[in-house]
Formats: sequence, C-alpha cells, structure tokens
Amino acid sequence: MTDAAELQRRTAQLLAAHPPANTDRIDFLKARFDAGLAWVHYPEGLGGLNAPRSLQVVVDAELEAVGAPDNDPRRNGIGLGMAAPTILKYGTEEQKQRYLRPLWVGEEVWCQLFSEPGAGSDLAALGTRAVREGDEWVVNGQKVWTSGAHNSRWAILIARTDPDVPKHAGITYFICDMTDPGVDVRPLRQITGEAEFNEVFLTDVRIPDDRRLGEVGDGWRVAQTTLNNERVAIGGMRLPREGGMIGPVSRTWRERPELRTQDLHQRLLKLWVDAEVARLTAERLRQQLVAGQPGPEGAGMKLAFARLNQEISGLEVELRGEEGLLYDDWTLRRPELVDFTGRDAGYRYLRSKGNSIEGGTSEVLLNIVAERVLGLPAEPRTDKDVAWKDLAR
Ligand SMILES: Cc1cc2nc3c(=O)[nH]c(=O)nc-3n(C[C@H](O)[C@H](O)[C@H](O)COP(=O)(O)OP(=O)(O)OC[C@H]3O[C@@H](n4cnc5c(N)ncnc54)[C@H](O)[C@@H]3O)c2cc1C
Repeated sequence: MTDAAELQRRTAQLLAAHPPANTDRIDFLKARFDAGLAWVHYPEGLGGLNAPRSLQVVVDAELEAVGAPDNDPRRNGIGLGMAAPTILKYGTEEQKQRYLRPLWVGEEVWCQLFSEPGAGSDLAALGTRAVREGDEWVVNGQKVWTSGAHNSRWAILIARTDPDVPKHAGITYFICDMTDPGVDVRPLRQITGEAEFNEVFLTDVRIPDDRRLGEVGDGWRVAQTTLNNERVAIGGMRLPREGGMIGPVSRTWRERPELRTQDLHQRLLKLWVDAEVARLTAERLRQQLVAGQPGPEGAGMKLAFARLNQEISGLEVELRGEEGLLYDDWTLRRPELVDFTGRDAGYRYLRSKGNSIEGGTSEVLLNIVAERVLGLPAEPRTDKDVAWKDLAR
C-alpha cells in the first residue's frame, strides 16, 4: 500500500534525479509521470501508483515547496478533467499508453466535440454521422461551442453510427485528430469579446477504428463518464479559502472602505459563507471520489458553482459602482486558458454568465438532481423507443 511517507520518499527521489533548476520543464514532467507521481490514483505505468486519490496533495505540496514546474492544468482542463478519466475507464491498453502521458504532461491539449446546433441539453439527439468503411470511420457533421478547439491536438467526439435505433442507442465515442484536413475550426465570439470557443465543421474526417473508445453503439454510456467528470472538473475545483470568485470582491471590500454600505455588507457576508460551504463540500466530494467515478453529486456542485459565481461577480460590479461598469478590453482574444476569476470585475461578471450553461445548464442539472439524487419522478420522455431517424426535427 502506498502511503504518504512512501510518496514523500518517491518525490524526494524524483527531485534528486531530476533537479528542477537544471532540468527541462517537459523532461521533468515526463519523469514525474514515469515515477507514478502525476495522478497518484492512476494505475502504475500510467502516471500513478494505485494510491488513494486524497494523497495527491502530499506530492503536490512537496513539489510546490521547491518550485518544481507543474503541468499548467488550466491549459488542458478538458484533457485532464474529462478525456483522461474516460480513456482510463474505457480505453484499450494501447490507447492508455498512447494518449495519457502527453495529455498529462500538456504536450497534447484536448477539446470536446459533443454539442451541436440541434443537440445541447438534448445531447443524445446529435446528428453528426460516422459511417464505417473497412477499418475506418468517415465522419460528417457540425459541432458547436467547442472550447479550445483552436489549441487542441485531439478531441473526444460522439457521433451517430446507427440512425435506425432510438437516439441513446446509436451513438459511438471516438478520439478525433484535430489536425485531420477535414476538420475546420472557426472562432465564435462571446459576450466578453473573446473567442475561447468555436464551431467545428467535420467533412469526411477519417478516424481509424482503433481510435474508438468503448463498443460501437455504447457511446452514450461512455459519454456519461465524461459528463459526470466535467461537472466535478468545473464545480469541484480544489481551492484555498477565498480562492474562487469570492477572493477579488473580498479584497476590494477590505481595501476600499469608502465603497461599503450596510446592505452590501450583509449580502457579502452571506455569499462569503456560501462560498466557503461550497468549497468544503467540494473537498468532501473529492474524498468520495477516492471510492470511484463521480455520480450525479457533481451536478449539485456545478449548480452551486454557477449560482455563486453569478451572484458574487454581480455584487462586485455593484460594489464598484460606475467603475464596475468599465470593461478592460474588447480585443478579440483567442485565450489559451480560461480563468473565470481573471482580469477585471467586468470580465468576471460577463464570463460567469456562461457558467450556468457550460457543462450542462442549471435547469438540466436540477432535473438530474431531482431524478437521480432525490428520486423524484422523471420527466415524461416520449421519444425513448423511437428510431433516431424518425424523430421530429
Ligand atoms: C462557455 C461555454 C463553453 C462550452 N464548451 C463546450 C465544449 O467545449 N464542448 C461542447 O461540446 N459543448 C460546449 N458548450 C456547450 C454547452 O454544453 C451547451 O451550451 C449546453 O449543454 C446547452 O445546450 P444549448 O446551448 O444547445 O441550449 P439548449 O439545450 O437549446 O437549451 C436552451 C434553454 O432550454 C433549457 N432546457 C433545455 N432542456 C430542458 C429541460 N429538459 N428542462 C428544463 N429546461 C430545459 C436550457 O436550460 C436552456 O435554458 C459550452 C457552452 C458554453 C456556454
């Protein structure tokens, strides 16, 4: 059994063999992966040591203390938070060996080709087609809202492989090469002025069958692993106290007493407590994850995260008065990473609007909590037994 002392010993060994001060950053990260200290709960040989997930902090703290480079996780949030756990659960041995190391190191960034113009909340209605030709699949269709597609080497993709069966049954899950000549990535500008996401047109994209994840027709089940991990990745981030959206507004409150009012004081205190409760609940959720893959609990975390980010950033704009309405820069940016709490108050306010849409809208997550956590009756579903090709569109 790998315990904290063993992890400390291995971390010291890594640092002695590859001193960060005179080791190339990527070489250090590869050595860390090979030592099983990347994500300690992963299997041996795949960046981990089969250790309890809760012990990751032991390694992170030791490495942070000596200023060792990290893998800049915000640059590859979809890869680390969603693609990796799905590959780990459903990938073949070859797929795990091929994709996980460059993903963790950050050499290969991933994006998510799920949503389509006609399939967002009702994702299972998707129409992008994958047709088998020998050992390959030929993919045609359009995806939308694809965050980071412009920086990505790979995508997780779900496509329809059988239109003759009900919508959830005819979907297959693939790994798509974003450098394929049939992949056309076009920016979509957001309310913040920047284009962190894209529309992606897929025209005769050829995907070898060995880039399929899971069985043909089982893509919906595979996608549940991705989606459950997505909610935890978005809503359950590890944060220090005042680490999230509550940080900047609390600082402004302390530094600018002239802005304070009694009403804002009461509201800020309430939101501060709510943010701290959400932070500690996320910590508990991560401890539950030691026992396996996330379930619908992630939906609750993601709901709270979106509500708090919107309320807190709204309060910050109000607190700053006219100044809060200023916006720093409308230049079309193509960010490499998304920092919800970055830039200025106006940015935080505008960007948080997307928090209740990305990773599943709050309305849809409420349905999930109602049905799968509280056991309330399910929404009526009239299309469960209808072949996808016969659905009204
Ligand atoms: C910033 C951002 C980044 C994103 N990144 C990605 C990405 O990288 N990859 C990707 O694949 N997608 C991405 N998305 C897409 C996101 O997952 C979808 O926008 C989301 O699932 C909603 O789908 P939709 O936009 O089609 O809205 P719709 O599904 O059309 O919903 C419209 C409205 O109807 C409501 N609604 C729909 N169904 C129900 C229901 N059953 N009960 C109650 N209300 C309902 C919704 O809550 C919403 O208010 C991103 C979105 C945003 C905002």
